[in-house]
Amino acid sequence: MNLNQPVTYIKGVSVARAELLYSELGIKTCNDLLHLFPFRYIDKTQFYTINQLQQNTSEVQIAGKITNVKTVKQKRGSRLVATFTDATGSMELVWFKGVKWIKDSLKLNVPYVIYGKLNWYSGKANMPHPELELVSEYKKKLQTAMQPVYPSTEKLSNKGISQKIMRSMLQNLLQQAYGNIEETFSVNFMQENQLLGKRESLLNIHFPKNQELLAKAEYRLKFEELFFIQLQLLMKKLINKAKIKGYVFEQVGENFNNFYNNHLPFDLTNAQKRVLKEIRKDVSTGAHMNRLLQGDVGSGKTIVALLTMLLAIDNGFQATIMAPTEILATQHYNGIAELLEGTDIKVELLTGSSKTKKRREIHKGLEDGSLHILVGTHAILEDKVQFKNLGIAIIDEQHRFGVAQRSKMWHKNELPPHVLVMTATPIPRTLAMSVYGDLDISVIDELPPGRKDIKTVHRYDSNRLAVFKFLKDEINKGRQVYVVYPLIQESEAMDYKDLMDGYESISREFPSPKYQISIVHGKMKPADKDYEMDRFVKGETQIMVATTVIEVGVNVPNASVMVIESAERFGLSQLHQLRGRVGRGAEQSYCILLSSYQLSSDGKTRLKTMVDTVDGFKIAEVDLKLRGPGNIMGTQQSGVLNLKIADVVKDSPILYKARQTAIQLLEDDPTMIKPENSSILKRYTKLQKTSGIWSSIS
Ligand code: ADP
Ligand code: MG
Repeated sequence: MNLNQPVTYIKGVSVARAELLYSELGIKTCNDLLHLFPFRYIDKTQFYTINQLQQNTSEVQIAGKITNVKTVKQKRGSRLVATFTDATGSMELVWFKGVKWIKDSLKLNVPYVIYGKLNWYSGKANMPHPELELVSEYKKKLQTAMQPVYPSTEKLSNKGISQKIMRSMLQNLLQQAYGNIEETFSVNFMQENQLLGKRESLLNIHFPKNQELLAKAEYRLKFEELFFIQLQLLMKKLINKAKIKGYVFEQVGENFNNFYNNHLPFDLTNAQKRVLKEIRKDVSTGAHMNRLLQGDVGSGKTIVALLTMLLAIDNGFQATIMAPTEILATQHYNGIAELLEGTDIKVELLTGSSKTKKRREIHKGLEDGSLHILVGTHAILEDKVQFKNLGIAIIDEQHRFGVAQRSKMWHKNELPPHVLVMTATPIPRTLAMSVYGDLDISVIDELPPGRKDIKTVHRYDSNRLAVFKFLKDEINKGRQVYVVYPLIQESEAMDYKDLMDGYESISREFPSPKYQISIVHGKMKPADKDYEMDRFVKGETQIMVATTVIEVGVNVPNASVMVIESAERFGLSQLHQLRGRVGRGAEQSYCILLSSYQLSSDGKTRLKTMVDTVDGFKIAEVDLKLRGPGNIMGTQQSGVLNLKIADVVKDSPILYKARQTAIQLLEDDPTMIKPENSSILKRYTKLQKTSGIWSSIS
């Protein structure tokens, strides 16, 4: 049987059933059904003894006898409790329904086999509503295998496609199609990577002979899934490198050297040096650079960007750097202009609010090449903005820019400019490998020397007065503080009320004229927002009350305290970004997480993680575990979500192995032309035609 045929070719699958399978589970072909994997198994191959039971054994089968039965009165009705005993101990069986009928049917001191889920209560196991069978009956049936349990829906089971029917459909399918399942790997490859054959794997994932074979089948199928994703990403990278030409920045010249030797205000960290080397290597090859630069807040990405831009200028090109907001663009501009003071480099700022006269000047400078660096917002992407020869585009905080916008810039000149995307959102390695596997990634994993860790504490709302007192002390020392409120779209009205109430109570506690307070939130006009921001930046106000609009990039080194209200409502990466607003100066900085007493267990974990570490990558790992890959930035559109069996978080060791194997294969045989790779090539080609999910990423 051909696996591409519709499921109606399977014995026992009527047109009606086929339609249900399609509408409920999206299953059309035999192959689709073959890849509907069980999410758990009922294991009746194994017997447990009572003393073997552990908290993590969920469903178990035990042989023993019922030695006692009693009815226990409860608030409503009664429950039936039986004592079940084997040679090693005893436990309770419990029924809440059908008490009378069950009580009458139970036989004392006769061998039974029970099966069911365990409940744990103060360290002791009990089994509610067990499946119960006399050993004499049980022996008549032969239980040789573990039974699969498939993902299902209410409609499916209501319309008669029960687990039993599912099992029989799959059994028939495997019987009919077993010989048509094609092997994707060569014998050698499977031996080297210790992989079970494809047929055996599919058979055992559905009907495992035992735990060991199940584990092997799972490993093989996960490996295969991850391997082909990696192969696609790596091929894409190879093809892009070969296909998309880029400008060559051959020399390190006057501008770079002059700046490096005479204007660089500090020594670069080793991580910064390493990243610069990676970038220089990229731009010297003639291929197009598409590099992601990850570095925690304050790790010093700006200087790396600037040096890269100088490299472009030394080779006769212009450079641009884009930021997601006007405030950030302005800060970049000020910082870069200051660093470049005393050099011959010309730098300008272009934003939505640049005046017409200034715009004209900028347009002209860009076109005749006299303007070297353009800093700005989205305004840079307007059609009117034409560079003479843009060599590199640097994008700060990439997630704020759409992919389409990014590539639009490419069409302004002959070759696409090199692209360096900088992000302060650390992406866990596993995710980066699966989502951005076709990009080159650089990581600044070291903070400049002398930074003090931000002291982070968690306090409950009732401690607010003590917190205010602490803020006063800091302000009296000349510091500034942030107080941030959550703003979640669904509860916007209430959140604004919280913000305003908070603002009022802070105004009362910190009266003018001694204290000045800025407030910034999303409902304000941009001009008002900028005005308030500006007062805080200049030190005219000591307290900044805000929603998360200040999250990205704002730099006020004199601010030493970040108070986060209702911290339990923020996500981890947001908390981390917010905390990164302080600790930018020489002073000891603090982050105070305020929360109510009612915390979910995830909420507790988030706050504890923040208190325990300032390492953005560690925080990102916890975040990924808590939320799963589907909710992490940038992964929504990627195939990570479409994984059928593997899990990028739990199966990261397999992911590393699969990626390594794919890299080796392509190094050895970049076009997969060798005969032993023919089956891999075949599968790869087919995936290229059908999936296409990867084309949307970069
Ligand atoms: P981010 O990676 O968050 O964009 P920045 O580039 O804004 O970080 O750098 C944060 C601060 O650290 C800036 O004030 C910058 O001047 C300073 N800095 C960057 N690199 C170094 C270094 N190697 N040594 C000392 N200070 C540095
Ligand atoms: Mg920055």
